[in-house]
Amino acid sequence: MIGEMIGDMHGAQYEFEDYKLKKEEYPLFSSKCEFTDDTVATIAVIDALTKIMQEAGKNKPLNLSEENIVELKKRTIEAFHFYVKAYPHCGWGSHFHQWGMNKDTKPYNSWGNGSAMRISPVGWIADSEEEVKILSKAISEVTHNHVEGIKGAEATAMCIYWARKGVSKEEIKARVIRDYYPIVDMLDYDTLVEEYRFDVSCQGTVPPAIYCFLISNSFEDCLRTCLSIGGDSDTLSAIGCSIAEAFYKPGKEWKKKAYKFLPERFCRAIDYIESWVDDREPTE
Ligand SMILES: [Mg+2]
Repeated sequence: MIGEMIGDMHGAQYEFEDYKLKKEEYPLFSSKCEFTDDTVATIAVIDALTKIMQEAGKNKPLNLSEENIVELKKRTIEAFHFYVKAYPHCGWGSHFHQWGMNKDTKPYNSWGNGSAMRISPVGWIADSEEEVKILSKAISEVTHNHVEGIKGAEATAMCIYWARKGVSKEEIKARVIRDYYPIVDMLDYDTLVEEYRFDVSCQGTVPPAIYCFLISNSFEDCLRTCLSIGGDSDTLSAIGCSIAEAFYKPGKEWKKKAYKFLPERFCRAIDYIESWVDDREPTE
């Protein structure tokens, strides 16, 4: 979650730039950082998931009954409507913005990377791979009901879940290639730096974002790697860093710095879900 937002706020300033800096040249937490739709949509997803989290509390399993999933989808739609109106100029894609402003409740078959950029909370609250799939699909298909939209979100949430559970990078890579994106095996950093361009699709954003995480050696390195390949920079960095957060567990300093760029209400939402996750982690 906060990893997603750190990626977003750093990538936002380069989203429409046609140049790429070297990895080490990107300034961190400069005054040009700003959160965008990626962050706001993630907060909306946290809001929508709150009832399911509250019901489960510290000890009970998540109740993902059909009835609760219907309720979750309804809450997700309402939360998106609310946040589009509350933050109308934070960089929403035109379709999503229109859908939100019109209070539309029907999906529009999107394959855009918006489904993946907002899904990180699912990777943190799910207790099993099956739960990742159910929750991810429910949240995605309220707008992104195209097969690629659903897949991009599930792949992202699943990587976060695996990383959180201590699965090795080799295993994550093997499973991503097998279950989601065989192309990840063929990506190459230097080629991406040279050739990768702006792409708002899930299938064009999620594989390179996962790849940047896989070749990184720290949370900061993942952020810099994502920024340096360019493209839809805020969203690609948001996705890559959401996985890197779960894997590297960056220190509190990162969160402290990021919070300076976020509204108080967003910080409270993140604190809530993090303490909920902590309460449920098995203790030795
Ligand atoms: Mg954005």
